[in-house]
Amino acid sequence: MPTTTRIYNFSAGPAVLPLPVLEEAQRDLVSLPGVGMSVMEISHRSKTFEDLLNTAIADIRALADVPADYRILMLQGGATLQFSMVPMNLLTPGATADYIDTGSWADKAAKEAKKVGTVNIAATTKADLYTRIPRQEELRLTPGAAYVHITTNNTIEGTAWKTPPETGGAPLAADTSSDMFSAPIDVSRFGVIYAGAQKNLGPSGVTLVILREDLLSRSVDSLPVMLNYRVHAENNSLYNTPNTFGVYILGLTVKWLRSLGGLPAIARINQRKAAKLYAEVDRTGFYRGTAQKESRSLMNATFRLPSEELEKLFVKESTAAGLDGLKGHRSVGGMRASIYNAFPEEGVDALVGFMREFERKHG
Ligand SMILES: *Cc1c(COP(=O)(O)O)cnc(C)c1O
Repeated sequence: MPTTTRIYNFSAGPAVLPLPVLEEAQRDLVSLPGVGMSVMEISHRSKTFEDLLNTAIADIRALADVPADYRILMLQGGATLQFSMVPMNLLTPGATADYIDTGSWADKAAKEAKKVGTVNIAATTKADLYTRIPRQEELRLTPGAAYVHITTNNTIEGTAWKTPPETGGAPLAADTSSDMFSAPIDVSRFGVIYAGAQKNLGPSGVTLVILREDLLSRSVDSLPVMLNYRVHAENNSLYNTPNTFGVYILGLTVKWLRSLGGLPAIARINQRKAAKLYAEVDRTGFYRGTAQKESRSLMNATFRLPSEELEKLFVKESTAAGLDGLKGHRSVGGMRASIYNAFPEEGVDALVGFMREFERKHG
């Protein structure tokens, strides 16, 4: 296989990037146009990098209609560090944070918050093996909670919130790592939104944080400086050296989304891709979706086969057919097809074709 041939990459993360983004980065890798150095070799204090960072921020603001009173930060430490930073900055002494437990990542976020302060699990669907998102009536919210935390898309379990819950005035904190910018998002509904970039936004090592400005007043000076949102906001994410290459690729990815027609356009594409895949999952009963239908994710489609032997064979044969990364997370088993923004529709068609043929042979 020539080294430039690309297969269909269904990995949950780090995940497929848009080809035009990779091609532009490749073209400009040795020297950014007019700069004579690569993006990895220039000072993060240079005008070139500051322009690049500010353009990425402006493009994010335009792409998602981020209101003027929200700050856009590019941090490090992944979504996992946000599990700590959110409570360290926003869980004020004496207050309670509500967490809605919809999967392994949501559970990890709550566990980190418990190290910082009082946490109330406002709802959990663990008893249903996380196959669904709770209904509004199931939530036991704390009056006056410091914030309510949700995981908008449960990467491992293949479920997603269709609309964010009502919180009765408490700021909503959302881990959007696996569905950020996959559809229009009403940022004004949230206090803080965070996403590790490596699923839908760029490479690993950069974390997008969008934060309502008034919440910065909760960040106290005694926090370690790198864990303080206010410090990062006051320094435009340049308190120390950011992941310059990661910011660059994230910026190109956001530009690519804008060139497609923005979030409504990518949402239509994502809906079409997911509909094709779930139609095949549901077609005969040979495949069985693990998430309840009304909670299904458009980004991570999880399904099982009639036996573990067939699942092993499916992984082996699909990999050989150039469909990579379909093995589900070990906690759920079965298959998981991650079809993020950058995943091409032809790859979904190829998977559907493979599934039909596999069922014909083994069903
Ligand atoms: C992948 C993932 C994480 C972990 O992200 P890191 O950047 O590796 O820390 C957290 N939350 C969700 C929803 C994820 O999908």
